[in-house]
Amino acid sequence: MTIAIYPGSFDPITNGHLDIVTRAGKVFEKIIIGVYEKSDKHLVFTTKERVDLARRAVANLPNIEVKSFRGLTVDFAKQEKAQVMIRGLRMNADFEKEFEMAMMNRKLSPELDLLCLMASQEYQFLSSTLLKEVARLGGNISDLVPEHVVEALRKKVHGKM
Ligand code: ADP
Repeated sequence: MTIAIYPGSFDPITNGHLDIVTRAGKVFEKIIIGVYEKSDKHLVFTTKERVDLARRAVANLPNIEVKSFRGLTVDFAKQEKAQVMIRGLRMNADFEKEFEMAMMNRKLSPELDLLCLMASQEYQFLSSTLLKEVARLGGNISDLVPEHVVEALRKKVHGKM
């Protein structure tokens, strides 16, 4: 079976992430969204919340699972018997960082390959960080995340995220 992992912070999952995983799901038999338990980013949602939000977002996609992991992404890939790692590339934001990480991961685990999908035009400027800022300031985010994520962000804003 061709298995791919799609790792990230997913704080929270957005329509940009969903676009990537839906497209990748047409290529691979199984995709596992890997939610980092720890991240160097300032996180608003707990690991459990990020996993739950992602699970609900892909509930209608039968070949996509969501798991959390800690430690090296290449070890998570091995544990899940994945041959490929998926990442999304936005025009300006991602290339250099992804390239650097890909070279290091290749060194750590030469058998794991990286597949980058270009972000769709409508999500090129969407990041979880910007999304949280807009939500905090009361902006409309309903085109950018699923409805249950809008609701979860609204609750966090009221709880002063
Ligand atoms: P990380 O902390 O590893 O960057 P993110 O949750 O921010 O994790 O993103 C996970 C993956 O999804 C990364 O490959 C990132 O480039 C990609 N991604 C983030 N936002 C978008 C978007 N709007 N469109 C396509 N891909 C995206």
